Amino acid sequence: MTTMTRTVTEQKIEPQEQVKLLRQNMLLCRSLGHAWHGAGDSGKFHVHEKRKSKIVAVSRTLSCTRCKCSRTDVYDYPSFDLVKHLRVYPDGYLLTNGASRIWRHHANAELFMRQAEPS
Ligand SMILES: [Zn+2]
Repeated sequence: MTTMTRTVTEQKIEPQEQVKLLRQNMLLCRSLGHAWHGAGDSGKFHVHEKRKSKIVAVSRTLSCTRCKCSRTDVYDYPSFDLVKHLRVYPDGYLLTNGASRIWRHHANAELFMRQAEPS
């Protein structure tokens, strides 16, 4: 009996390469932060959970006008301490496996390269 052992070497993708794969709107969000806007109801808070007829949590859902990422934040009531947040990202926004984190300076450098006119 032969046992094969496979060594997996993870290929690390450098952030300077990863940013080149991002669509322009997603690159802008990585540079500027998301442009949050109320999702359909102007960002109103809604009752998220009640216990014995008392409100114990409220939530608010927002979406990014540029990349369409959405976020739902759940807050304790009445303290409004953030207790949970959910994010849903559009295809292509998140990094692929093995990618290093993209920092704002990486996004800014790529935006500058894209806007540069050939001389
Ligand atoms: Zn965004």
